[in-house]
Amino acid sequence: MGTLRTQAAVGDRKLPEQLLKFISVAQKRPDKRDATARRADWGEVYQDFAEAGAKTQASRCSQCGVPFCQIHCPVQNNIPDWLMLTASGRLEEAYEVSSATNNFPEICGRICPQDRLCEGNCVIEKGFESVTIGAIERHITDTAFEQGWVKPVVPAVELPETIGIIGAGPGGLAAAEMLRHRGYQVHVYDRYDRVGGLLIYGIPNFKLEKEIVNRRAQLLVDSGVTFHLGFEVGVDASLDDLRKRHEAVLIATGAYGVRDIKVPGVGLDNVHQALDYLTASNRKGLGDAVPAYDDGTLDANGRDVVVIGGGDTAMDCVRTAIRQNARSVKCLYRRDRENMPGSMQEVTHAEEEGVDFVWLSAPKAFLGDRAVDGVRVERIHLGVADSSGRQTPQPIEGSAHTVPANMVIRALGFDPEDLPVLFNAPELETTRWGSLLIDWATMMTSMSGVFAAGDIVRGASLVVWAIKDGRDAAASIHRYINARQQTLAAAS
Ligand code: FAD
Ligand code: SF4
Ligand code: SF4
Repeated sequence: MGTLRTQAAVGDRKLPEQLLKFISVAQKRPDKRDATARRADWGEVYQDFAEAGAKTQASRCSQCGVPFCQIHCPVQNNIPDWLMLTASGRLEEAYEVSSATNNFPEICGRICPQDRLCEGNCVIEKGFESVTIGAIERHITDTAFEQGWVKPVVPAVELPETIGIIGAGPGGLAAAEMLRHRGYQVHVYDRYDRVGGLLIYGIPNFKLEKEIVNRRAQLLVDSGVTFHLGFEVGVDASLDDLRKRHEAVLIATGAYGVRDIKVPGVGLDNVHQALDYLTASNRKGLGDAVPAYDDGTLDANGRDVVVIGGGDTAMDCVRTAIRQNARSVKCLYRRDRENMPGSMQEVTHAEEEGVDFVWLSAPKAFLGDRAVDGVRVERIHLGVADSSGRQTPQPIEGSAHTVPANMVIRALGFDPEDLPVLFNAPELETTRWGSLLIDWATMMTSMSGVFAAGDIVRGASLVVWAIKDGRDAAASIHRYINARQQTLAAAS
């Protein structure tokens, strides 16, 4: 974890003259591809900064003594330091600092909701626009890859102990890398055939190109991590088997329990789950044969698509449908724009690309004989706030009307699956939300030597939080193994 700088630390040294330019230099993000070009392919929205652009934008930082950007970054990145180094043209050092606190900075730079985290808390945001922290973070590590500065892990010493990690998403991968740094023999088990978890099969290419994930996966292989793909814990081995095989086990299995909607017609043909739809599209993009896509079932081409939901998953679905040449794409959300959980930046991108947002609307029924041909929609009024402080959506009587649709995607979010049942491990305790119960000081579950990280403990969350948990769990596993060895040595 990074240490926070203090005013004294900054005040004691002379700041390079390249800094504090926020008064004279306006915020400028990297070039954004126009919506017509974006609709026609699966490329990312923003280009990378040219080096001069990154340098100039980094120079806007005022090098705060107490940097709120860093405080609000889940991995506590030393943002002012790598901004200062970037502004001074010292990119290799910037990479060293940036990679010291974050295993996948180029991924976070692309997909963190920066407006809610680092950039949203940049102090110059109050009078000027924030430093473009995410884009600079991405630029530093993309440059590091291009220049060959990113190297596989070579531990100072190889240890005999083996660690089993269940789940090759960002939480499991961050832990794997940190444990290899310490010299442990790391085995990662995943039921999918590729490494990356939701980075590969959930998040679409236009937010995160697959090549960015694949080069990280390759780096981990080159670092000596052993992947066991197509291996489902609970089916191919039990949790107990893995405990016997390894000195410690980390569970990082994500949250795949679907939150569903209970209205008539939900079982009609062409009413799909968001993750089925996105996974098919991602697989197709990766060159796989996907029967349910190839026969048109999960392809939005030529269809009138209605997506239900207002989070980031819903945004990914509507924008995927646009790129599949849907005839029309509507997003139905029961609250208004100001109250939607998805990132505002993603909503703006979707609107630019031609998505029609139908705010304050909820489905009452899906219509059709065998396949869906319309959605019965009710208008919503936001009533008094509930205990969470959010206004309660209330249907407006007599407002029901039909929206034509021959493809409907339910994107209402995810909860952790019931792992004690799936893993046949009733001693694994859960919270009332179904997530694994852990001791946050050690990341250990109710089973000794079994740790957990990421969405399976937080519920559906963010990549950067999974990375933080993976790093914390790796540190804790190391302490656990050391403590156990000391106990055994004392007893012998
Ligand atoms: P996951 O990434 O879900 O990885 C878990 C892995 O465990 C998977 O590979 C799975 O196959 C494996 N697994 C599960 N069960 C078993 C088993 N029994 N045996 C073996 N392997 C198993 N976050 C952001 O920060 N920015 C975004 O823009 C963003 N967009 C998103 C878009 C979508 C569509 C979705 C669904 C999520 C998005 N998120 C985003 C959230 C983010 O992807 C997750 O918070 C993050 O991936 C969680 O990481 P994880 O390692 O805990 O789990
Ligand atoms: Fe911002 Fe995310 Fe990078 Fe932290 S990891 S600095 S929150 S983009
Ligand atoms: Fe720089 Fe903004 Fe962070 Fe202050 S809050 S150190 S200005 S990026």
